[in-house]
Amino acid sequence: RAKARGRATYQFFEPALAETAYADLVLESELAQGLTRNEFELYLQPQVEANTGQLSGAEALLRWRHPERGLLSPDRFIFVAERHRLMLALGEWVLREAAQTARRWREEGLIQGHGPMRIAVNLSRMQFNLDGFADTVKRVLHEVGAQGQWLELELTERMLIEDIEHAPTTLAALRAQGLTVSVDDFGTGYTSLAHLTELPLDKLKIDQSFVARLPDDVGAQAITRAIVQMAVGLGLAVTAEGVRTAAQWQLLAGWGCQQFQGDLVGSPMPVAEFEAWVKAR
Ligand code: C2E
Ligand code: MG
Ligand code: MG
Ligand code: MG
Repeated sequence: RAKARGRATYQFFEPALAETAYADLVLESELAQGLTRNEFELYLQPQVEANTGQLSGAEALLRWRHPERGLLSPDRFIFVAERHRLMLALGEWVLREAAQTARRWREEGLIQGHGPMRIAVNLSRMQFNLDGFADTVKRVLHEVGAQGQWLELELTERMLIEDIEHAPTTLAALRAQGLTVSVDDFGTGYTSLAHLTELPLDKLKIDQSFVARLPDDVGAQAITRAIVQMAVGLGLAVTAEGVRTAAQWQLLAGWGCQQFQGDLVGSPMPVAEFEAWVKAR
């Protein structure tokens, strides 16, 4: 009887677990193949300066053009890549691709008449927490013939806190190479104010979950306003992401937010489309 019940339990749970594990395994091998078969693409989403209206740059957002499943967003596959360390190779591909694009823009004069036109790259905790990450960046820049000033790196609060012992050194080494360092999804993590003043940072990006609740939600107003004021007080730049309406823009700009990213300015687009968009401006 006990055996029968055990068996019943076994049958209830095991298929679901096995399916998940199997799906992950398939995805893992497909990810590795996808890298060698060049199935990954960068999309670029514009960022603009409120005061000047100038383009300050773009955020690189990873996409996977899967042969059967179509265009996949990072939320569908990044977590698997991180579990299997493939994220290191994938993350380096993103960095190299962004650096090459930034270099090509200088060669082709695409950036003329615009702002700094930095490309912002999202980092995975696996990349940032690895010893020698700043050296990896240096190597990639050297291989590509790109300058640190052309790129920005986006980290999350969680990544900084998990590696709080080494984070200041790594960040300092990255900034010494000219890279801009920003904290992504700010307000959703656990950065203490003390950490904020101790870490060598350049920019905070207000999480889009707060922006989405503007202009009406009083709680979101209080939080975003406090973040902008804190950033200004600490001498950090601040970007609002996920800005979709003019009302959101006006409110944030009134508080002192200088940089905007979101559908109101432009949605993420393939690199060639982004370049056409820039030329048409
Ligand atoms: P994130 O870095 O916070 O990027 C912003 C996300 O918000 C993007 O989603 C972007 O498409 C979306 N977004 C921006 N403005 C708007 C808007 O006005 N409306 C709407 N509806 N959405 C907006 P996406 O591209 O799906 O990326 C999701 C997350 O995946 C990113 O969040 C980032 O954490 C991660 N990610 C993307 N690319 C990479 C990468 O190359 N490496 C790593 N490690 N993570 C990446
Ligand atoms: Mg980001
Ligand atoms: Mg974000
Ligand atoms: Mg995010």
